Amino acid sequence: MLPVIALVGRPNVGKSTLFNRLTKSRDALVANLPGLTRDRQYGQAKLKGQPFIIIDTGGIAGDEEGIDDLMAKQSLQAVEEADIVLFLVDARSGMTAADEYVAEQLRRQQKPVILVVNKVDGVHADAALAEYYSFGYQTILPLAAEHGRGVSTLVDTVLESLDLEQVEQDEQTIEELQAQGLKLAVVGRPNVGKSTLINRFLGEERVVVFDMPGTTRDSIYIEMERRGKPYTLIDTAGVRRRGKVKEAVEKFSVLKTLQAISDANVVIMVMDAREPITDQDLSLISHIIEAGRSMVIAINKWDGMTEEDRDDVKMEIDRRLGFVDFARVHFISALHGSNVGHLWDSVDEAWKSALVEMTSSKLTRLLEQAYDRHQPHAVKGRRIKLRYAHPGGHNPPIIVIHGKQVSKLQESYKRYLINFFRKKLNLIGTPIRLETKEGD
Ligand code: GDP
Ligand code: GDP
Repeated sequence: MLPVIALVGRPNVGKSTLFNRLTKSRDALVANLPGLTRDRQYGQAKLKGQPFIIIDTGGIAGDEEGIDDLMAKQSLQAVEEADIVLFLVDARSGMTAADEYVAEQLRRQQKPVILVVNKVDGVHADAALAEYYSFGYQTILPLAAEHGRGVSTLVDTVLESLDLEQVEQDEQTIEELQAQGLKLAVVGRPNVGKSTLINRFLGEERVVVFDMPGTTRDSIYIEMERRGKPYTLIDTAGVRRRGKVKEAVEKFSVLKTLQAISDANVVIMVMDAREPITDQDLSLISHIIEAGRSMVIAINKWDGMTEEDRDDVKMEIDRRLGFVDFARVHFISALHGSNVGHLWDSVDEAWKSALVEMTSSKLTRLLEQAYDRHQPHAVKGRRIKLRYAHPGGHNPPIIVIHGKQVSKLQESYKRYLINFFRKKLNLIGTPIRLETKEGD
């Protein structure tokens, strides 16, 4: 499970600014999505090598009514879900009644809290901090989130408080990953048919279910075997917990889904053909890409739809899911089992792509081909030169490009390169990461 950090504080203290700085979207593919309202509440971050989930709470002001009240409740729930809380206050405005109210709320929750005094740029930091000693926190840190000052110390303190190693984890080898078997998460909004699909998987004759451990808050892990190969299903819908009798639908939890995505090798993203594609669908997909996970898209409830409706759905998918055109899309009926077998083929294919063996010589050859066909724009009159490429990791495949001025490569050119590599290496279902290194 990834450790969870919640950002808490009254409105306007700089929570979103810090959130953006910590999570700064690592995947340009997602960041540049036109028209996608990003899920601002939950983000993934890798801080000094350690992956985290960060929750940006709406804010607690102490005078909530209506919608604000709802937000405040959600903030408190985020605190409950978190391993550590960063309580932000504003150095410029000084302590307010709302800050005291937040402190009071936090005191009830018994979570480790770091008090962060933000916006210390241009003010006397020591004086700004001194005001907050009365809250009684052991750790008070100054920050200028907007300028990035104090972030590194803050991250160190978080790692230390949670007793986490700061060392970069050793990458697992392809062999190690293969030996572990494939972890397959089934995710999607409520009611799209996740439980039905999982029951279909488990009901298939060829499938042998071994055991079903799991705790109440987390996804359920189900060991199964299909055609002699081991898989671990990560069930975010709680099928097994509910047992045979289907009780009230479990509350959908973004956090649980993110944890499942992070722990999976391949994710089946389930959507309902009878419902329009929602922002929440897009947000889940972008989380999958950002986590670097392979993906197969299942458009469920395809049974009993008219040809006309089916055409509409396909058009909608072309229009809105163009940014994940690397993932296979299957039109299935979990209820009747149609096309479910093909899902498995794509799952295996996506995992194979995620673990592709790449050599420097091949990547460099492909880079040269791509460059010959289409050169990047010059930056301030100076040509960008691409020299060579080498593999930088797998799951997802990382391609590192060396050259002159490469850090200035336009996003559009990077996308061109990614698509070129994708086609030539026949990588289907996995995101590809491109990294650039200046010089030789
Ligand atoms: P939130 O409501 O807590 O999420 O606060 P925001 O992140 O939206 O920030 C509120 C305002 O404070 C914005 O105008 C930010 O630009 C500004 N702000 C955030 N961090 C800093 C900082 O470190 N220094 C200064 N001077 N302003 C900041
Ligand atoms: P979950 O909340 O994502 O786990 O969704 P469920 O598996 O509980 O399904 C929600 C509802 O959709 C139930 O009434 C299912 O019977 C129905 N459903 C699931 N899959 C299909 C399908 O392929 N076709 C049709 N027509 N209904 C389905």
